[in-house]
Amino acid sequence: MTVRTRIAPSPTGIAHIGTAYMALFNYAFARQNDGEFLVRIEDTDRARFVEGAEQVIYDSLDWLEIPYTKTFRQSEHLEDYSAAVQTLIQKGHAYYCFCTPERLETMRKEQQARKEIPRYDRLCTHLPKEEVQKRLDSGERHVIRMKMPDNEMISWDDLVRGTISINTKELDDQVLMKSDGFPTYHLAVVVDDNRMQISHVIRGEEWISSTPKHILLYRYFGWQLPVFAHMPLLRNVDKTKMSKRKNDVSIPSYKEKGYLPQALRNYLCLMGWSHPDEKDIFALQEFIKVFSFSRMQTTGPIFDVKKLDWMNGKYIREVLKTDEVETALFPFLPDDFPQDLLPKILPLVRERLVTLHDIGPLTEFFYHDIHPTVEELMGKKSSMSEAKKYLEAALSTLEKSFEETEMLAMVDSKGWNRGAFFTTLRVAVTGRTVSPPLFDTIRVLGKQLTLSRVKAAITLC
Ligand code: GLU
Repeated sequence: MTVRTRIAPSPTGIAHIGTAYMALFNYAFARQNDGEFLVRIEDTDRARFVEGAEQVIYDSLDWLEIPYTKTFRQSEHLEDYSAAVQTLIQKGHAYYCFCTPERLETMRKEQQARKEIPRYDRLCTHLPKEEVQKRLDSGERHVIRMKMPDNEMISWDDLVRGTISINTKELDDQVLMKSDGFPTYHLAVVVDDNRMQISHVIRGEEWISSTPKHILLYRYFGWQLPVFAHMPLLRNVDKTKMSKRKNDVSIPSYKEKGYLPQALRNYLCLMGWSHPDEKDIFALQEFIKVFSFSRMQTTGPIFDVKKLDWMNGKYIREVLKTDEVETALFPFLPDDFPQDLLPKILPLVRERLVTLHDIGPLTEFFYHDIHPTVEELMGKKSSMSEAKKYLEAALSTLEKSFEETEMLAMVDSKGWNRGAFFTTLRVAVTGRTVSPPLFDTIRVLGKQLTLSRVKAAITLC
């Protein structure tokens, strides 16, 4: 059997992290089995359609370097869904329903009041054929519903969850065709997955309760059933379903914030799956090799930006080569960043970059004027006159040498507190109390700039 997997995102707005998560596992499983990973666009929900959203989804997958084959949009195949639903009507598995939204609403309220599960009461299943035809001919608004068997257990072997069984009595007579002539998800997903010869449907657990409907449709059409795998849903840190209120869920926004696609992808691999050697950091190729559904857990994995931050920093520090980090940083360098300095500055701040975006704030003092205050120069331990004394001595030492040992010898010979002295000097040279190693910084700044900053600080005290 050729393995063919797919994602079927709906272009309803943001390109969601959950889509990247599904794409990654679908892609890895297909690659592992020399199969193919496809993308189709589920755009039949016209009310939620957002122009341009489709392109953002493709751009996001490209950025994450998850390869895929583009296929089609559902809206391009409307006639196939109508043909499919007609087959179901002929076979007695679907029927026309003319109930108005108002009637359905009243029915729902009454059922709720009786504490029953709201579901369609099948009024229209009893309509005589001629009446149906007459109402159709007169153009009356209608939908087409699936006729659920009354009491049948539908089971399947889920790759993530083992055997799942759901009784059809828990299921509504699902609308398959809406009054606008567009299919619902349930009809379209089956017709499309069959057309695309999808062998494995790997999707979010929110579709578990829909799967029996899909299985019945496959049976009614006489089509080969795919294997199902229902992945756990990503969660916020408080374990609620990952949502934009509590988490950033948009893939492009992670790109803008300076996350590396490699790091985000690696982090997503660990959502509900663990490496057999307990590794955190591994390449996509390795994931493809060692992935198996048997190591998937069913509890919802927590998408924790703090852990992603750790992983991103680790990729910047240790995984990527220096030239790769430089290339990745390029779009994040402020306009006035002296680009020829990057190879000199990067080694000084690389340890402290969490996102690529940090490059600006962490290195600004190299090429922007600094404005330390007297209080900052004094730090917690020194008086104003002590700070001045430190800076004057530092200045005359720096005029002779840029060696840290020389400076230390001078400080010790005076019997000064090293911490206090270096706080003052650091603030004078970098404008901040925390900086990359001071003497490495001084060497990048150069003699002229360093001395003029120390002199300017002396005049403040
Ligand atoms: N359009 C559905 C979604 O975006 C597809 C679900 C499926 O994979 O079957 O969640």
